[in-house]
Amino acid sequence: MKTLKQLSQEINKCVLCGTCRSVCPTFGVVQREPASARGKVALCDAYLNKEIGISEGFIKHMNECVQCMACYAACPNDVNVPDIILAARAEIAKEKGMPFVKSFILENILDSERLMPAAMKFASRLQGLLFKGVPEESGLHRRFPLPLIDERRLVPPLAERFFMDVVADSSAFSTAPTGHPTKGWVGQTTRPRVGFFAGCLINYMLPNIGEASLKVLEKAGASVVVPLDQLCCGMPALGMGDVETAKVLALKNLEAFEKYELDYITTACATCSDGLKRRFKELLSYEGEDVQRRVDKFSSKVRDITELLVNDFGFRISDFGFYKSQISNLKSQIVTYHDPCHLRRGQGIADEPRELIEMSGAKLKEMSHPCRCCGLGGSFNITNYDFSMEINRSKAEDIKNTGADIVATACPGCMIQIKDGLHQLGADTKVVHVVELLADNIDSR
Ligand code: SF4
Ligand code: SF4
Repeated sequence: MKTLKQLSQEINKCVLCGTCRSVCPTFGVVQREPASARGKVALCDAYLNKEIGISEGFIKHMNECVQCMACYAACPNDVNVPDIILAARAEIAKEKGMPFVKSFILENILDSERLMPAAMKFASRLQGLLFKGVPEESGLHRRFPLPLIDERRLVPPLAERFFMDVVADSSAFSTAPTGHPTKGWVGQTTRPRVGFFAGCLINYMLPNIGEASLKVLEKAGASVVVPLDQLCCGMPALGMGDVETAKVLALKNLEAFEKYELDYITTACATCSDGLKRRFKELLSYEGEDVQRRVDKFSSKVRDITELLVNDFGFRISDFGFYKSQISNLKSQIVTYHDPCHLRRGQGIADEPRELIEMSGAKLKEMSHPCRCCGLGGSFNITNYDFSMEINRSKAEDIKNTGADIVATACPGCMIQIKDGLHQLGADTKVVHVVELLADNIDSR
């Protein structure tokens, strides 16, 4: 990862034209220059020129960014503002340290294959005491005042069984004879060998998406491996400025997957696929030639699941062995699609999930601004809840205005944020992952 100083040329490319202001969601809400992409570039320039230091104001402004990349996409000079902001957050973490709770979680729990699941299991046992269920919404509301949890926030419950436990216990998977903690394909196969990366939200909160992914991948002809020693992708740590933890996690995940001769590595989380494909290479770029060769090989195999199914597998509805009109339990349903920022702008993937929705038999109806950010922004939603939900409001209204029965997307983080926004708007639109639409059809045979 480049430091802020190493990005000074990038900063100097900014001609202060202001084009980015019109697309920046944080500026759209508060209408203050430091909240805009241009304002943050100017602040970083002033910091590098020693005109300002790392003040409370500087920290606040650098944290007011959802990393949506809309500024980068709109900038006529290709100024990579999101990376400048990430580098500024790393500078802040280095200079000022991180709050104790954040650094304890990032440094001691997140990168441990034993402690992280144990901590989440402990939290899942406590959640009944701390939260109460919201009928018909598969979400929770807090019972008591809790730090970082606004009383309006709809919190997704931790799963009764985590995805990795479901996979580990599944009789559908054989134990690898290699001695590695893995479930899935082993030995000779002529089918494409695919390693599945779950990511934290699928593992701990939405295991149904992981199960739907495995079902669809196998139906599409893949032999799937799920390395059980995989960890968090590290993007939450990177977003908070903890580059060292993100590096450790990238290396450990590299080791977990490179034990197998895989053709592809895939995930159903847009943030994870963007991280595995793009950020791992940046994080490990100064770790020596051997690591660079390994990470290049790893990243070249990474595909978002929507991309893998459509572009690499040429997935077609006929792969199910029946015609759309005959099978789909979705044919009377209208589905609208939300573009996750890390999929559309991070990886240039927009058509593939739409093609999969149409294959599911549902009718796709576009919202007015499908690629407008949902406001999640990693930990931005936790530290700036009102701000985040203000950004989300226009997304929720846009979805509601389509009259769609279902909103599909390709990122579990966006799903959680959108569900909260729709709940606050009083809309009952169902929120699903694209692969769930396909898996539903497999079920309906
Ligand atoms: S659009 Fe690009 S050049 Fe123009 S102000 Fe924003 S970052 Fe600077
Ligand atoms: S990444 Fe998004 S929120 Fe952050 S400065 Fe750019 S447009 Fe604004």
